[in-house]
Amino acid sequence: MEKIYMDNNATTAVKPEVLEAMLPYFCEQFGNPSSVHWAGRMVGGAIDKARQQVADLLHCSPAEVIFLSCGSEGDNYAIKGTADALKDKGNHIITTAVEHPAVLETCQALEKDGFEVTYLGVDQDGSLDLKELEAAITDKTILISVMWANNETGNIYPIEKIGQIAKKHKIRFHTDAVQAAGKIPVDVRKANVDMAVISGHKIGAPKGVGAMYLKRGTRISRFMHGGHQERNRRAGTHNVPGIVGMGLACELAQQSMESDYKYVRALRDKLEDGILSTIPDVKLNGHPNADLRLPNTLNVSFNYIEGESLLLFFDMKGIAASSGSACTSGSLEPSHVMGAMGVDIVLAHSSTRFSLGPNNTEKEIDFILQELPAIVQRLREMSPLYNRTSPAPLSCDECRMVSCSH
Ligand code: PLP
Repeated sequence: MEKIYMDNNATTAVKPEVLEAMLPYFCEQFGNPSSVHWAGRMVGGAIDKARQQVADLLHCSPAEVIFLSCGSEGDNYAIKGTADALKDKGNHIITTAVEHPAVLETCQALEKDGFEVTYLGVDQDGSLDLKELEAAITDKTILISVMWANNETGNIYPIEKIGQIAKKHKIRFHTDAVQAAGKIPVDVRKANVDMAVISGHKIGAPKGVGAMYLKRGTRISRFMHGGHQERNRRAGTHNVPGIVGMGLACELAQQSMESDYKYVRALRDKLEDGILSTIPDVKLNGHPNADLRLPNTLNVSFNYIEGESLLLFFDMKGIAASSGSACTSGSLEPSHVMGAMGVDIVLAHSSTRFSLGPNNTEKEIDFILQELPAIVQRLREMSPLYNRTSPAPLSCDECRMVSCSH
C-alpha cells in the first residue's frame, strides 16, 4: 500500500540534505560550542552560520536570533518573559481565540498570576476585526500576540497591519510564525514585529530545535535559567546538530519558497475543488479567498461524520491527515479554532485537515479524490446523525452520540 503523508502542519520529514549536514556534528564535531578548546571552536562557526541562515529567512540580524528547543518554548519565553519584564508598566495582554495552545495556555497561566488577557474573537471565516483589536488596547496593555498563520485552517493574519497598530500605540508585538515561516515570506522588520517564533520540525529540520527573533533592545526576562548561552538570553547547551539542520532548512525553504508555493498550492487547490465539487454537505473551514490561506492547508468538515472515524478509514488506505478534534481523556473535544469560528458542533467534530508539502504528488491527490466519496458515504450511513432519507441532521433527542455535547 502506498503511503500518503498530508499532515505537514503537524511535522515534516527531515530533508535529506539537512540530515547530511547534521551528521558530522554527532560523532566527529561533537564539541560544546561554549568550550574554549579546539573541540568547542570547531562547532562555533557552524552555529554562527545557522544563525545567519535563520536571520536571512526572517529578514533580521543574526544577533537577533536565539536558538531554542521548539516553537512552544519560544511562545512561552516571548509571552512570559515580556509579562515579567514589563509588569511595572501594565498587566494586560491581547491575543486571539485561535492561537496555538502554546500561546493560549501560556496566557491562561498568566491570568492565574494576575494578568488580564483579551482573547479576540474571529468571524466565521476565521478573520480578525482589527478595529476590535485596536479598541481592546488600554493604558495597561503590554503585549499583542497574534499568530502569522493558523495551523488548523491555514488562515494568514494581517501581521503588517497589526504591527502598525502595535507601533502606533507603542505596544510590544509577538507573532507565532511557526506555520508561516518557510511557506510564505516572513519579514519581521517590515511587519514591525518585536518577537517571532519558528520551529525546525515544521520546515524539514528535526524535532527539538526552534528559534526566536528578538528585536535588538527588547527587554525580556530570562525564561531558562542556567548557563550564559545565547548571549545570556537562553540557558542550555546548544543542540548543535539540530541548530545546523535548522539553519540549512531555513536556507532551503527560502530558496524554494516561490516554486514550492506554486506547486503545493496547485495540488491543494485541486484537492479542495475536487472535494467541494464531488461530495455533498462539505464545508470549507477557513478563509474562502485561498490567497489568504497558507498554500498547503485545506480544512474541511464532512457533515454527519466524525473526523476521527474518517482518519481511521484514511489510515487503512495509507493516508495520513489530521482531525480538528483532540482526543483528551476519552472524550473528543472539538477544536477551539472551529469553536471560535462559530462552526456548528457537529461540523466541528467532522473537521479534517490536509496539510500538504512539496513531496506530495498529483497522483496522490487523484487517489484521495477517488477514494474519499465512498469513505464519506460509508461513514455517513453508519452515523447516527445521518438520516438516509433526508440529509437533515438528527435532533438532540434522536442523537445518541456519547461525545455529542449539544
Ligand atoms: N505554534 C503553532 C502555530 C504550531 O502549529 C505549533 C506546532 O504544531 C507550535 C506553535 C508548537 O511548535 P513545537 O511543536 O515546535 O513546540
